[in-house]
Amino acid sequence: MDYYSANISKLIEELSRLPGIGAKSAGRLAFHIINMPKEQANALASAITSARENIKYCSECFTLTDEDVCPICKNPQRDHKTIMVVENTKDLAAYEKCGKYNGVYHVLHGAISPMLGIGPNEIKLKELINRLKGDVNEVIIATNSSLEGETTAMYISKLVKPINIKVSRIASGVPVGGDLECIDEVTLLRALEGRVEM
Ligand code: ZN
Repeated sequence: MDYYSANISKLIEELSRLPGIGAKSAGRLAFHIINMPKEQANALASAITSARENIKYCSECFTLTDEDVCPICKNPQRDHKTIMVVENTKDLAAYEKCGKYNGVYHVLHGAISPMLGIGPNEIKLKELINRLKGDVNEVIIATNSSLEGETTAMYISKLVKPINIKVSRIASGVPVGGDLECIDEVTLLRALEGRVEM
């Protein structure tokens, strides 16, 4: 990349670290950014900085939020005795979009993957078990139906069952390897309503 200025090369290099962005796309984006009006480029840069600086984990459900406790956990209208376990904040957003779930969530920030060296301690599992010391009726496991998601679901059900809390798994309908965020609302709702006790 010697034929570019050092600044452009640096921008391309940073962009190409993003998931799904190869060298070619990174170059295209870099030139797009350079040609943006200055204010727009500044707005993009400060949105990145501000998001990275100010977003934190909700102290209850561990979703990404601007506040100490997220709006869902803060809402007294929600059923705080039903906890849906999801892999990440994007999955939480998918369920919220379908608007039919009134419980609260627990965000794991990943799934157990022996292949990638991600064990139970690398995700927010201890935090989930801690929450179950409170007044909880049901844990709904909504991890993806990938190998990692299934492994995580099994692991959680083994942890939760001895505490005598109902554990259920969202029904099939969420395709294997499919990201929850890509699934339409009807499918999500059917998966939620058709959940089975583990
Ligand atoms: Zn929360």
